[in-house]
Amino acid sequence: MDLEKWHKSWRLVACDDGLGAVECLGCNRMSPPGSSNRPFEHDQGCLVATANDQYPWADLRDALAIPGFVKPRSALDGVR
Ligand SMILES: [Zn+2]
Repeated sequence: MDLEKWHKSWRLVACDDGLGAVECLGCNRMSPPGSSNRPFEHDQGCLVATANDQYPWADLRDALAIPGFVKPRSALDGVR
């Protein structure tokens, strides 16, 4: 799962608890980080849902951890 594929089904949103949440683009249900170890619960008939359990937080972590996918750079780049 790469980041662009992830982004076709999910997005990160602000949430009342201040911790943010993953939102399904199909049914707009949300999952806070505290429930990241439980399968995502979609509305009935959601097109993003699959036959297998989905863990969007874990998928996002994996997408961000792909070695070499992002070139490390300093916040000072462009300042000097
Ligand atoms: Zn959904």
